[in-house]
Amino acid sequence: MIVGSGVVVSCGSPAHVIEDGAVAISGELIVDVGPCEEVRQKYPEARFEDVGGRLIMPGMTCTHTHLYSTFGVGMQFDGPPPKVFSRILEGLWWRLDRALTEEDVWISAMVPLIRCVRNGTTTIFDHHSSPNAIAGSLDIIADAVTRVGIRALLAYEVSDRDGPGVRDEAIGENVRFIERCKRNPSPLLRATFGLHASLTLSDSTLTKCVEASGAREAGFHIHTAEGVEDLIRSIRRYGKPVVKRLDDFGIWNDRSLAVNCVHVSPEEIEILKERDVSVVHNPGSNMGNAVGAAPIEEMISRGMRVGLGTDGYSCDMFEGLKIANLLLKHEEADPQVGWAEAPLMAFENNSSIIAKYWDVPIGVLRPGAYADLIVVDYWAPTPVCESSFHSHLLLGISGGMVDSTMVGGRFLMRHRELATVDEWEIAARSRELARELWNRA
Ligand SMILES: [Zn+2]
Repeated sequence: MIVGSGVVVSCGSPAHVIEDGAVAISGELIVDVGPCEEVRQKYPEARFEDVGGRLIMPGMTCTHTHLYSTFGVGMQFDGPPPKVFSRILEGLWWRLDRALTEEDVWISAMVPLIRCVRNGTTTIFDHHSSPNAIAGSLDIIADAVTRVGIRALLAYEVSDRDGPGVRDEAIGENVRFIERCKRNPSPLLRATFGLHASLTLSDSTLTKCVEASGAREAGFHIHTAEGVEDLIRSIRRYGKPVVKRLDDFGIWNDRSLAVNCVHVSPEEIEILKERDVSVVHNPGSNMGNAVGAAPIEEMISRGMRVGLGTDGYSCDMFEGLKIANLLLKHEEADPQVGWAEAPLMAFENNSSIIAKYWDVPIGVLRPGAYADLIVVDYWAPTPVCESSFHSHLLLGISGGMVDSTMVGGRFLMRHRELATVDEWEIAARSRELARELWNRA
């Protein structure tokens, strides 16, 4: 198949733009990218999908989210509105996740997965928690992921907050799913070992996790110094900051994901760099929880792999890009910052992070990469070229403009019509289950 007659943009730095371009696809891979006429002449037998001048871009990727956060939209706190991050966790998220049933887990995954397709996100990293429905929960999410058809890296969040029995079950779920992904590999699914955060993990639990079968090879996916409480508790209880404490247990390696890193010192940043850890920035979530701003400029200037996630705040990575850009400018008090850094995190760095888990390139338009692409109904008011593309991205394009979404050469949405699932049915059931959960949580 050829997807062509569009403005093809490979979203690296600088963005490479082909004004009347095309992408040729064979099976699940891209085999060619170039000027439309050239590509059509090379593959005269190929079916031609004419996108009518729209943008053709790599699918967006999100390297940290929580699918289970679906029922949190509109859920009330159990007391006065919280002022600190740990109370947001206790008063909302931990009440929600403890109330999740197996059906809730499935529906609350389906809704954001569908939204991902609608907003052009084709790969996500999920961090799951359902303490009263742990065993098999990653299989339930994997089923939702496979039905919708995007790619996902899954992990179960281990913590001590519900006691040793729940903790051990959570460790077991990670081990089992990592093993399943090895035994029955799917191009859509990967696994890491999920950990909540230093503040809910005792020394003995960290030791158990590091020693768990397959854990180190899979890498650890952990919230790191997100709220200042994580730092304060680590220093009070263990006499060292979060990154250092986790380093002493061997949590960091080149497949580990240090999520947020808001309250980290230059020495801790150096540890993460030395261990070749990927950092995931979630600017919308950090601003929403009022936890502070991560030292993104410093980490990027040191050449670290800093990617971009949503932390469950949104399924629209174009929105995440815009927030990342604005927060950087605001925090650095420099209007020039952000134009390059936000796209760098969303495209090149997310792709490099994903390459730690998938052998085939993802998030790029080039021969040999997975044919994960989107067509965007964006009628540019000014020329789209290498020098202007980041401005279009940060000031113009939004997820609602995505017209078609393809993963592995298969359209999951074509001209805004979903190909794989009935979203109205899913949304209706989601509202029913959310009401029930709110009543019992
Ligand atoms: Zn998170």
